[in-house]
Amino acid sequence: MSYELPALPFDYTALAPYITKETLEFHHDKHHAAYVNNYNNAVKDTELDSQPIEAVIKAIAGDASKAGLFNNAAQAWNHSFYWNSIKPNGGGAPTGALADKIAADFGSFENFVAEFKQAAATQFGSGWAWLVLDNGSLKITKTGNADTPIAHGQTPLLTIDVWEHAYYLDYQNRRPDYISTFVEKLANWDFASANYEAAIA
Ligand code: FE
Repeated sequence: MSYELPALPFDYTALAPYITKETLEFHHDKHHAAYVNNYNNAVKDTELDSQPIEAVIKAIAGDASKAGLFNNAAQAWNHSFYWNSIKPNGGGAPTGALADKIAADFGSFENFVAEFKQAAATQFGSGWAWLVLDNGSLKITKTGNADTPIAHGQTPLLTIDVWEHAYYLDYQNRRPDYISTFVEKLANWDFASANYEAAIA
């Protein structure tokens, strides 16, 4: 079924100066919109068209003959997840059950931050870093290009897009500065907590 490009959950100027209006206009209105359009055109009139995008992603993951459809589907889905992973006045640390689980599985929030930053910084080329729930344990993963944890049986809780289009206008080649800003100023722990609580309910 057709996948609708979601509106940004905040104003285009709301993340400045950390992520500027110019970046959001290109990233959401051009890049994300293109993945959505390409996905809708590619899935139309196929046997997969009756299924929601998450089911399509899971059904065709690893099928080399459907790599184009997978890449656009996964990028459409990943970006919707990313817009919810950031917010104005974000950052800081989680509270409640997710905070306790992070302390239990990573030793401390500081350890989590160090590991998350390392994963995001060392994803070679385009991709994503994620906090996921995997078989009851929190893990940090990185995925290349369009790849997504939902294709690997993991439940994503939070993500950072480390494709250059996510940060180049604002940070040029300084990916580590973008990652630090994500952690300190943008990360939406309310969203991650809601994802965690839904997963364990
Ligand atoms: Fe992106």
